[in-house]
Amino acid sequence: TPTLLEVEGLKKYYPIRGGVFGRRTGDVKAVDGVSFSVRAGETLGIVGESGCGKSTTGRAILRLEEPTAGDVRFKGISLPSLHAEAMRQMRRQLQMVFQDPFASLNPRKKAGAIIEEPLLVHGIGDAKERRQQVQELLHVVGLDSYHAERFPHQFSGGQRQRIGIARALAVRPKLIVADEPVSALDVSIQSQVLNLLEDLQESFDLTYIFIAHDLSVVRHISDRIGVMYLGRMVELAERDELYDHPIHPYTQALLSAVPIPNPAAKRERIVLQGDVPNPKDPPSGCAFHTRCPYVMEICRQERPLFRNQGGGHFAACHLTEK
Ligand code: SF4
Ligand code: MG
Repeated sequence: TPTLLEVEGLKKYYPIRGGVFGRRTGDVKAVDGVSFSVRAGETLGIVGESGCGKSTTGRAILRLEEPTAGDVRFKGISLPSLHAEAMRQMRRQLQMVFQDPFASLNPRKKAGAIIEEPLLVHGIGDAKERRQQVQELLHVVGLDSYHAERFPHQFSGGQRQRIGIARALAVRPKLIVADEPVSALDVSIQSQVLNLLEDLQESFDLTYIFIAHDLSVVRHISDRIGVMYLGRMVELAERDELYDHPIHPYTQALLSAVPIPNPAAKRERIVLQGDVPNPKDPPSGCAFHTRCPYVMEICRQERPLFRNQGGGHFAACHLTEK
């Protein structure tokens, strides 16, 4: 399968300002050198605790935030080097679905106008054609024609997320970054929206980057999964490989907290020490060393490389260097 997207050494730093003159005193390294690729047609899950940089990674890929460093190549084209107008056109192929469907929908606009907006922005069709497309999009996401005339507050959370998905779909994108699209929804609604996303992937040849804080949500939908910790990717593998043979101690800890379908394959529960460190002042070496049950001296000194451990299973851990 051809590669659709390559992310290479992506960084997003936010300056910390202090003192009387608002002098730059340091950086929050929200994303600190992340590299991975996404194949056409796959779903790449990205998982990690809140504040690990997964949303910022998604937003920096689409340049909703400007990357501080690194490259993002979509079909071989470097997105960070595109001028504003070229990037605007490129956005037709790169869309985002947000976590909180209510916050991301304009409360004063009807659903039909919300879904139509990207068509207007990109100058697609005349008024009549756009109205037809809105109708079609409503049906595609499981809503009805009359919903076009309703306001966001008149919908349930699940319906609002369907509108968010219809809006993203309107311009027929190739890649959708879905940032915790079901986290704000009731558990009973989550699987409906996940099933919808899977159906749409089939019928529209979509590629997904699916961001979640929960390994159980991405399990079903992902072909491969990447695990992030404090602005870095620590492990990435095919879905079953990751669940069956996790390499990184952080992944092992996350998995040990997930209930497993087969109780015979008992996993030892690994309880992580302490909280996620402050990203303003991340630990030296391996950023996980303050919580890792296997920490060694070298872990405090040297940042482990994110390396292919075989068969496309990537991990960044000094344990694998021995
Ligand atoms: Fe633990 Fe060291 Fe591996 Fe980091 S590099 S995960 S501290 S063993
Ligand atoms: Mg799939």
